Amino acid sequence: MSVLGGMQDWELRVSLLIDHAAREHGTREIVTRWADGSTSRTTWAGIRHDALKMVQALRKLGIRPGDRVATLAMNHNRHLVSWYGVTGAGAVLHTINPRLFDEQLDYIVGHAEDRVLIFDAVFAPIVERLRSNWPCVEQFICFDSSDHGLSFDAWIGAENGETEWTTGSERDPCMLCYTSGTTGNPKGVMYEHRSNMLHTYAGIMPQCLDLDARSVVLPVVPMFHANNWGFPWAAAAVGAKLVYSATNDAQVLCDLMRSEGVTYLAGVPTVWLAVLQHCDARGEPLPPLTNALTGGSAMPRAIIERLVGAGMRVAHAWGMTETSPVATIAYESADWDELDLERRVTIKAMQGRPVFGVQVRTVDLDDPAKELPRDGKTAGALQVRGPWVIKRYFKAEADATDQDQWFDTGDVALIHADGTVQLTDRTKDVIKSGGEWISSVELENAAIAHPGVAEAAAIGIAHPKWDERPILVVVKKPGAEVDPESLRDLLATRVAKWWLPDAIEFVDEIPHTGTGKISKKDLREQFRDYRL
Ligand code: AMP
Repeated sequence: MSVLGGMQDWELRVSLLIDHAAREHGTREIVTRWADGSTSRTTWAGIRHDALKMVQALRKLGIRPGDRVATLAMNHNRHLVSWYGVTGAGAVLHTINPRLFDEQLDYIVGHAEDRVLIFDAVFAPIVERLRSNWPCVEQFICFDSSDHGLSFDAWIGAENGETEWTTGSERDPCMLCYTSGTTGNPKGVMYEHRSNMLHTYAGIMPQCLDLDARSVVLPVVPMFHANNWGFPWAAAAVGAKLVYSATNDAQVLCDLMRSEGVTYLAGVPTVWLAVLQHCDARGEPLPPLTNALTGGSAMPRAIIERLVGAGMRVAHAWGMTETSPVATIAYESADWDELDLERRVTIKAMQGRPVFGVQVRTVDLDDPAKELPRDGKTAGALQVRGPWVIKRYFKAEADATDQDQWFDTGDVALIHADGTVQLTDRTKDVIKSGGEWISSVELENAAIAHPGVAEAAAIGIAHPKWDERPILVVVKKPGAEVDPESLRDLLATRVAKWWLPDAIEFVDEIPHTGTGKISKKDLREQFRDYRL
């Protein structure tokens, strides 16, 4: 006879998070610093009340469960209201990256079939330029101004918030995020209520995002990027105070950290670099943070060293839009207190170990059926699986995984015996010289350790004898002189001799993608006719 479980029926939906935050941490603040320098303050209870008003307003527009509602916006409290308002109405919040190119914006709005689009006034020019290409959008609403038609405050202000969240299954979709992709059209990743809830439970753990009720978090990572690294959900789960800035100016960020008592900053390495440079230029100490979270691209050792040295708990995470995004994170090992700074930095410079819930493995780049050993030496294609990892892109006809649910990340990595993942490249960016792989990422990391180098990118150039050889493209820091020989000498101390670039080219600018990463595709195109 089969036996039934004896526990209650609760669908894991994200509305549970905001109910909890409003009930148990109702007075905890959500602060927004707007681009014009003004500040507004609300609380978790206030966010919940506004989100319920938004649910009513969405229903009046005829938005039904599963319909897509888009935002084109920076980080602020009204955007946070939308996270809970749209999902609380059972609809799908589609956060759009305003830095995408027009063709990509046209494609994703049409592909998502967004019915409502809510935008910041600074992005009104995009809306004006493209709205005629978006016939699916029935209603445009402006978050922060009444100069562009219906304003958000007027729209939800007409409601009283006396309603209930839309109920449904925990497997219902709730968020849609497109990856910019290096080739082809952007692809939509559709998060579910359940995947977000499980990602939240994992995220708040000390050995993951390490959040608690005392945390005062400034998520500089944009709300349109990769589920905002899960902060709107995780902060509600623990009742953390959230501090938003609608601009990413280092001066503004530093002032805000000091005035709001921020303990925790989450941003891509470029943000950390800007904050450090700003403080150094003014001879100011770093704001007194306890936690530094980074990810999105490899965190340079020099920055980690500064932050660890300043006593911050540095968490370097790896993930992608397809993994909700947190999958692995470099946290403190059991013997951490005995380690010297050099070793601590080495651990944090790698991408860390899988968070509970996510599994990782590497397979041979040429033969995916061959799983590779965790020996810290053999690099291969990094694959992941778990309940918050993608199964199928939105509207795709086939799964993005193999029959055992492994998703190929497009990253190249080696896995150490203790499970630490170390990224060495993107599958498309590895340089194959004489049949052996050269890691462009390692070359770049070595190059940016040079005091005069602001940014560096290594790409493979066709070579008659070796198939491909690396060249290094470098942007100098303003006013700095970089002697190619001194750079080559530095590289020689960090990588194998045969990895050394055949040429070093100095440029004013390296092309970036819409999400701010180096666009190797465009760089390769730029150097298409380059001959060695
Ligand atoms: P996205 O989906 O735009 O967040 O991009 C995900 C990709 O960013 C990953 O597949 C990696 O190539 C890269 N990435 C993310 N985190 C890291 C990290 N900590 N170190 C190096 N690369 C990273």
